[in-house]
Amino acid sequence: MKTTPLDLLVDLSRRLGDPAMDAAILGEGNTSVRVGDDMLVKASGVVLQHAEPGDFVRLPLTDAVALIADDEAGDAEVDAFFSAIARAEGRRPSVEALLHVVLYEATEARVVAHSHPTSVNALLCSQSAELLVDGALFPDQIVVLGSTPLLVPYIDPGIRLARAVRELLRDHIARHGEAPKAVYLRNHGVFALGASADQVLGITTMMQKVARVLIGANAVGGAQFMPPEEVQRIDTRPDELYRRALLAAAGEETP
Ligand SMILES: [Zn+2]
Repeated sequence: MKTTPLDLLVDLSRRLGDPAMDAAILGEGNTSVRVGDDMLVKASGVVLQHAEPGDFVRLPLTDAVALIADDEAGDAEVDAFFSAIARAEGRRPSVEALLHVVLYEATEARVVAHSHPTSVNALLCSQSAELLVDGALFPDQIVVLGSTPLLVPYIDPGIRLARAVRELLRDHIARHGEAPKAVYLRNHGVFALGASADQVLGITTMMQKVARVLIGANAVGGAQFMPPEEVQRIDTRPDELYRRALLAAAGEETP
């Protein structure tokens, strides 16, 4: 039987919301998948762990990008847009749906997972959040997360945050020549961008591991980052690129 994008999203949501992941409780977090010019995204208030096929809505990306790009648009226009989707789909999209939109607009991502992992938030809610993006600690971190994660300052979730991330992504891609796979939001949580459900779960798990290693390293004198030339080497050597391609393709049942 063929796996549909909706099947993929339900399965991803349940795995991301599994208490063993320690990445989301209650209504925290959201997931989406790109389907052509649309995005399927979690409806507002859904508990990831118990996600069902009826818990997702279809959102047209072009209309959403136009809304975000319109400087005149504010909370009232977002509310009208979400209400129109609710009338058509029966549910309102998650308030963080607009952030998923800008990630699909600016990158090649086909699946996006947003969560609030306890271990990563320990750093994101501390005065040491930069450690998550200042350097790499070990080779597998680079293989899974790449070498250019993005850290976003705290901004009110919704259209303001979506606009700010849109700008930051443009700057980031211009500077590094590639989109980030891992996006960290101060005092909030993380976004994982990938080609498959398995890849975004792998990215989320690796972000949690990096956070735990950083916290441990800081308890014994401080983190020692890898030399930048060694980071570059892992990021570009052929066997690691091969391993990365395998990780991205793992469980590739996306549309
Ligand atoms: Zn969130």
